Amino acid sequence: MITLRDIGMVYENGFQALQATNLEFEAGSFNVLLGRSGAGKSTLLRCINLLNQPTSGVIEIKGLGMVNKDRTVQRKHRTNTAMIFQQHQLISRHSALKNVLMGRLGHYHPLRTIMPFTHADKSLALECLDRVGLIEKALERIDNLSGGQQQRVGIARGLAQQPGILLADEPVASLDPATSNQVLSLLHNICKEDNLTAIVSLHQVELAQNYADRIVGLADGRVVFDGSADDLKAVNIDSIYSSEHPSKESGIVAAAIEQGGEIAVTPSL
Ligand code: ADP
Ligand code: MG
Repeated sequence: MITLRDIGMVYENGFQALQATNLEFEAGSFNVLLGRSGAGKSTLLRCINLLNQPTSGVIEIKGLGMVNKDRTVQRKHRTNTAMIFQQHQLISRHSALKNVLMGRLGHYHPLRTIMPFTHADKSLALECLDRVGLIEKALERIDNLSGGQQQRVGIARGLAQQPGILLADEPVASLDPATSNQVLSLLHNICKEDNLTAIVSLHQVELAQNYADRIVGLADGRVVFDGSADDLKAVNIDSIYSSEHPSKESGIVAAAIEQGGEIAVTPSL
């Protein structure tokens, strides 16, 4: 269980990207953050894994304690929290296997980076590549893989970390719709198999509705919706995608949802 109490973020330039936010994420749940560009999705995710130190509030992880207040548990929290990025942040000249092994680094002293990995690490990395369907590509350089394959390596690297929490920041935003669906389906299945607590930001409403146990809608650094996919009605989608700077697409999306039609627009862009 992840509990956020009054978590807020003011950047160094004085901009408040996240208002005091209170949320709880159940262990093993698959949560989606929805919101237009600039809503605060990345800020919230980066606060949760402490890439950004929240400027107010407390993050409590069951079993660890208040991770942003107690330095001794920060490292454990980081090791327990895998992060998947939109641009996957792999090293393109290295093999898939070597990139997946990087997921093991958090478990070792920093000097480990200049030492060889153990046999157990390599077996685990290969097992993770197998789970994402890429065992045959283990020795292939990242820049020889497709976008969808690269993101699957990113997932395997996260799994090699053996986390309890998985955060993913627009993991499918760079992929075409069919590949997005495949990659998100894979990510969802793995999180469920391993009982990971997942928080995934997306900008596609329909993907959120397909996979989320719960959807948290953000607009202008505030939670404007919190409920199940079934609870998400056109009016909620409008409140997520309308803001101080209203998006002209939001009405179209709401209308498409209400009519049960396909949504062709990507509202947050
Ligand atoms: P999202 O991921 O939903 O697109 P972000 O969390 O990246 O939104 O950004 C939320 C707001 O915070 C935006 O207005 C963005 O410009 C601003 N912001 C993000 N990072 C910084 C930063 N390092 N310094 C100042 N403002 C930032
Ligand atoms: Mg973002």
